[in-house]
Amino acid sequence: MTARIIDGKAIAQDLRAKIAGAAAALTQKTGIVPGLAVVLVGSDPASEVYVRTKSKAVVDAGMRSFDHKLPADTPETELIALVERLNADPAVHGILVQLPLPPQIDAARVLHTIDPGKDVDGFHPVNAGRLATGLPALVPCTPLGCVRLAKAVHPALAGMEAVVIGRSNIVGKPLAQLLLGENCTVTVAHSKTRDLPAVCRRADLLFAAVGRAEMVRGDWIRPGATVIDVGINRVPGEAGKTRLVGDVAFAEASAVAGAITPVPGGVGPMTIACVILNTLRAACAKQGVAAPDL
Ligand code: NDP
Repeated sequence: MTARIIDGKAIAQDLRAKIAGAAAALTQKTGIVPGLAVVLVGSDPASEVYVRTKSKAVVDAGMRSFDHKLPADTPETELIALVERLNADPAVHGILVQLPLPPQIDAARVLHTIDPGKDVDGFHPVNAGRLATGLPALVPCTPLGCVRLAKAVHPALAGMEAVVIGRSNIVGKPLAQLLLGENCTVTVAHSKTRDLPAVCRRADLLFAAVGRAEMVRGDWIRPGATVIDVGINRVPGEAGKTRLVGDVAFAEASAVAGAITPVPGGVGPMTIACVILNTLRAACAKQGVAAPDL
């Protein structure tokens, strides 16, 4: 069997076009232009790339992007003061503080300062709690993207066995909550899970969010399963360069799976699309208008 490749880039592009249409309709109806503030502290090269990509996606969708680049030695109090100004700014509907933050800053304290209504990353405990209790929430972008990719293969996920490897607050836990909301039977695996390959072989839907290059082997996958690879790992490539690989051994896995996301070009582009989706949702909520069903 050769798996269907789930084209995250094309699915994300399609979603971004729909978001742009909905943003234009909101602006026409209310005069409001959704705005996203992106805060970057320091000059981590990977973070700089993410921030540039997010800002461009926002502008491409007809929204406003407010970029704040602060030096690496910025004190925590100064960053918190900026977040408070953004909380109060009516032109800003979404706030995103790029992680990781430098060591002098307590990331949790900063993230907990963000107005939950502007928390487009969905990391605030209020949003995590709302998601866990089935209330409307701003949901972390990577898990949102993962579920949309799974639904591109299986429009209805109800009753499916889903296995999520990883239990971070950013990916694994919110993903498990979303899958429960879709009526999957969910197993969350982590570093203490016994016989991980056997657990993975139960999955109709396998999500790998571990951060270990090509850890999931072909014989961990149930034939015909759908595999969503969240991992982004840099490994040595040809001619002294690095290349990106996921948490799944792609060649082996695609010989067994029914459908699989590539790395790059799978979950990554969907995460970006979901950042702008959340910005649109936050702007709609602020205006008291229903968010479009995209
Ligand atoms: P974390 O490091 O926060 O979490 C990793 C999780 O994997 C933990 O729950 C850990 O278990 C588990 N784990 C580690 N080793 C093993 C193992 N040997 N067997 C089973 N489980 C294990 O990572 P994130 O959730 O932030 O990110 C995961 C991956 O996704 C990374 O590669 C990251 O780069 C990528 N990522 C990609 C994004 C995208 O847009 N495509 C966005 C965000 C992340 P335990 O809790 O027991 O320690």
